[in-house]
Amino acid sequence: MPVGPGSGRPVRSDPLDCPAMTATSTTSTPTTTSTAAQPASSSGEGRVPRTYHVRTLGCQMNVHDSERMAGLLESAGYRRAQDVPEAVARATPAGDGGADVVIVNTCSVRENAATRLFGNLGQLAAVKRERPGMQIAVAGCLAQQMGQGIVERAPWVDVVFGTHNLDVLPALLERARHNEAAAVEIEESLQVFPSTLPTRRESAYAAWVSIAVGCNNTCTFCIVPSLRGRQRDRRPGEVLAEIEAVAAQGAIEVTLLGQNVNSYGVGFGDRGAFARLLRAAGAVEGIERVRFTSPHPAAFTDDVIEAMAATPTVMESLHMPLQSGSDRILRAMRRSYRSERFLGILERVRERMPRAAITTDIIVGFPGETEEDFAATLEVVERARFASAFTFEYSPRPGTPAADLVDQVPQEVVKERYARLDELVRRITHEENTAQEGRVVEVLVAEGEGRRDAATARVSGRAADNRLVHVALPAGLEAQDRAGGAPRPGDMVTVRVTHGAPHHLIADSAQCGEPLSAQQAAVNAALAPGDRVWLDDGPALFEVRRTRAGDAWERRQAEACAAPEPDTAPVAIGMPTIRLGAPGSR
Ligand code: SF4
Repeated sequence: MPVGPGSGRPVRSDPLDCPAMTATSTTSTPTTTSTAAQPASSSGEGRVPRTYHVRTLGCQMNVHDSERMAGLLESAGYRRAQDVPEAVARATPAGDGGADVVIVNTCSVRENAATRLFGNLGQLAAVKRERPGMQIAVAGCLAQQMGQGIVERAPWVDVVFGTHNLDVLPALLERARHNEAAAVEIEESLQVFPSTLPTRRESAYAAWVSIAVGCNNTCTFCIVPSLRGRQRDRRPGEVLAEIEAVAAQGAIEVTLLGQNVNSYGVGFGDRGAFARLLRAAGAVEGIERVRFTSPHPAAFTDDVIEAMAATPTVMESLHMPLQSGSDRILRAMRRSYRSERFLGILERVRERMPRAAITTDIIVGFPGETEEDFAATLEVVERARFASAFTFEYSPRPGTPAADLVDQVPQEVVKERYARLDELVRRITHEENTAQEGRVVEVLVAEGEGRRDAATARVSGRAADNRLVHVALPAGLEAQDRAGGAPRPGDMVTVRVTHGAPHHLIADSAQCGEPLSAQQAAVNAALAPGDRVWLDDGPALFEVRRTRAGDAWERRQAEACAAPEPDTAPVAIGMPTIRLGAPGSR
């Protein structure tokens, strides 16, 4: 499902089976220790470690790759810009974070990705002119696709590296500084499996764990196979060792990550490997929630359903990309399942897990799509009863086979169909969420899930089925009052759903049991629906379970507060040693 571990932020906005798109910055505690050598900031004349800031565009693969870039840079002595007040103070709207080194981790899935990248690079150029020694690096799928072309169009870019060679980032930065010339390195195939690289994880309580990279499919709308290469699987032992490691560091949730997780094991001759991996991951001590993304309907087998149903820690949520309900269009997309098979999977999942929340991706207006094809999509959506759907207007992406098809659907037709699909999805998801009212759910409290939390005195997180839940605190309890019983990010809170909105749930059961006064009711009625208090006739319910993950989050906060000020940091003495309209939050 389209949610970053722990961040829980709704992130899917690409039309791929591959994990979702987002724009975020890498921010969290390193799982690596820094080497002694520290690159010096120009602004500190050798005394201030250079700072970095990673801007991430794109899918969960990119988010996880950004965690690795951050880990690599910290191992090389760089510091996260947001931890250095001097850097924060000079941050600009260009998205530089005030850093000495800004990495833009790009995605080429979105329309006009290159146009937007160069627009952003233009803004960063203006910042660079005012900040001597600043370096700009471009990574990710667009870098893989364009390579040297990026430097040709934006000569102020210092470093370009691709999806297959993340490990070279610190070395390329140093080479560019030393040579005073751009350093560009693009590899055609994977050099170092990314999971072996240092990682600064974004969340203290939940972690991405990559099980495979690349994809062997050839969906005609997708650029991923040509940029990420063929699928490479990690051995199960390595995956489990990483899960054990993140559990030991405090994480209680893991999301297994791959472009097509159901094909996991094909590389080492074990077609049942993914189901076995799920069971084993679910048995790792300390792990309470296992998720995975993304499966492919063609490769989804019943042994995976059995593993999900039989492993209590594997959550009852499934992101199953439909893309189209028309068999003719699925064929044109080179997606080898058909709509009845797709619906059959959902039926079997629900037989074994009646509460499973199933989400999807759908593309509207693929070349050649007729009104009849589109009607087939609407029919499948109606029958599938998705908990949420990420819908996309098709637009040709350079480098994909579908971009060259002649029967492109006119934009106005695409937009009109998109509006109809959106309306249907919204009605169904609202109905499905309304059906959750009265359910008692355990919510893993997250950071950054509810933009209105401070204003509405709520905390937010994900239920076991991955639905986003905004949870009212008991009257008078401040979110920061941990001693008073407020949950920390990473803690679990048991509440009752009191309202189902189209894209989220509200659980205000902490304040149930007492009717609103007339005055409170008047105030409530004047608020926007998402800000209102939603009470039901049941008793108050708000139970906090403090977890190891909450402890880990608290430790991380304390460590961040205790970070040395820049002017007391060690003197830098040399070169570094080190050579990845979504619905949801309010
Ligand atoms: S080619 Fe692979 S990554 Fe792209 S949509 Fe198809 S299955 Fe997903």
